[in-house]
Amino acid sequence: MIEFDDVVAYLGKPNKQDCKHAYWQCPECKDKGKDNLIYTFYNQILKSWCCESCKKIYGDIVNNNPNKYQGKENKPKPKPEISHEKLESMLLYWCECQETLLGSQRILDYLEEKRGINKQTVEFCGIGIDINKKFGNHSYKVWVLPIIDANNHTLIGFEYRKNNFSIFYDNIKCMKEPGSYSCLSEINPGFNSKKQIILEGFLDAYLFLQHYGHEKYHILTPSMGVHSILPLMDSWYNKNLFLYLDSDKAGIEVMNKCKEKYQDIQIKTLQCGCKDFGDHYLKCLNRGKNGK
Ligand SMILES: [Zn+2]
Ligand SMILES: [Zn+2]
Repeated sequence: MIEFDDVVAYLGKPNKQDCKHAYWQCPECKDKGKDNLIYTFYNQILKSWCCESCKKIYGDIVNNNPNKYQGKENKPKPKPEISHEKLESMLLYWCECQETLLGSQRILDYLEEKRGINKQTVEFCGIGIDINKKFGNHSYKVWVLPIIDANNHTLIGFEYRKNNFSIFYDNIKCMKEPGSYSCLSEINPGFNSKKQIILEGFLDAYLFLQHYGHEKYHILTPSMGVHSILPLMDSWYNKNLFLYLDSDKAGIEVMNKCKEKYQDIQIKTLQCGCKDFGDHYLKCLNRGKNGK
């Protein structure tokens, strides 16, 4: 395993990136697609599909950073709290759900019309849909939103949203994939040195990325709701951390509590009367874009 920042220091910024992978041209083969060299965030592995260039790059990076990597080559990465089998099956399910969504122009149009999220963002963020998700004895059509622990870039579960994007509540106790835990889920892995911003929900975070791009901020959202932010703050707080929560009672309360405890934390609030970033995107930022 190798850290993303070290690969970027060696190769420069990737040509393409999404929430799972970053892509470069192979420096040896100079492939036309400029995507033969692939970094996978969740296991921190660099792989080239054309030749052995990844091994050379890996060797160079390790040699350039002897203190960081020495003796670590064979150490497994910190164990995720989910088994390897579970992770593999979740990754497969995730791919299927993305394929279903990307294969339906009608559903993509619906997502963009109702929530402003475009196809590019769907692809980058790995948003999916499951048209036959079973909760108990019932089947639902659900949006499948990946929860990726920002600490280790690992997929730990999914947030399921109903057709109308509302969250499943307790009467169906499976709004999250069983086994997922409270963490900050990252929308765009990589570029650890930049500013970090926490938005309250996945849809707000996707739109923030869509509007501001993925390189300016490391965009995060809590996996277990706005109140789960507070206990996570001790390990995440720094001067470059921004909180951009909803302008409602719960969001304001959490921002105030964070400000009390961590005085240097940066707070962003909406002054226009919009209730959250998603609302703000549709009403203020994207006004008139779709001819509406
Ligand atoms: Zn090559
Ligand atoms: Zn607004």
